Amino acid sequence: MFEALKEIVTIYANYTTMGNLTIATGRGDGIRDSLVIRSGREDSNPVISGSSLKGMIRSTLEAIFTEAYKRSRDNKFKVCVPSTCYRKKLVEGEDGRRYLQNIPVSDRLEESCDVNNLCPACRMFGMTQQAGRVIFHDARAKEEYIQTIDRTHVAIARDTKTAAGGALVTTETVPADVTFYGRIDLINPEPWMMGAVISTLELLPFLGVGAKKTSGYGDLKVKIGDEDIKRVITWRSDSPEAEPRTKQDYITAWEQFIGADFATLEELFKTEMTSSEEESKDNEGE
Ligand SMILES: [Zn+2]
Repeated sequence: MFEALKEIVTIYANYTTMGNLTIATGRGDGIRDSLVIRSGREDSNPVISGSSLKGMIRSTLEAIFTEAYKRSRDNKFKVCVPSTCYRKKLVEGEDGRRYLQNIPVSDRLEESCDVNNLCPACRMFGMTQQAGRVIFHDARAKEEYIQTIDRTHVAIARDTKTAAGGALVTTETVPADVTFYGRIDLINPEPWMMGAVISTLELLPFLGVGAKKTSGYGDLKVKIGDEDIKRVITWRSDSPEAEPRTKQDYITAWEQFIGADFATLEELFKTEMTSSEEESKDNEGE
């Protein structure tokens, strides 16, 4: 079933690298979780993958919904567990940065969503039987050619964080201060969904977005202003004369939905981090 197209809101997001950001080439370098990919020809510019961005934003929002559920025990915040993937929450790593870790099963719905009763994450991002409202496009650089940098370092074993037999690996990276121009379309969004996407994008510098954090690789920063938000209302809309909405209107709607201002949410994550050791034990059985 398709609902009438009433409104499309587009966010024009510029992502700027803050340090060397690893490129996932899919050529056996073991890097699968970088947001930057090189697809197509060897000499084509790397792009920030829209689907990886979507996965990152979805995982982060699921962590926020789970946090809201733990505080309120309000079922509207419970996120489902699709059988194909683990859900994540934010925890603090040894380097003081935040990383995503599996959410304990007790704080999630036991099963996948019912198409008639979707969890907030599936309402935004979709599920197998239902398209999502949020579409992330690949972000591309305006430069004709980005000079990438090869970095060689000792391979780090993921489980023990120790050097794995001293093997050297080379990874290709995008240098700092390269800007990628991207776009996110939201189809008939509820205002809180807009606020959720905008505020989570602006959290990117605090999240472990690049692969190989332990080797000192960099991050992305995003800043979205009112001028980056374009709202198109169709003739099918119930309220075609609606007032334009500002970024702050959307952020306020998100804070009202989640029941906290953003600073409070960040505080909650910091509190949560102290008990992360316990939680990781819970996850071992998954
Ligand atoms: Zn769901």
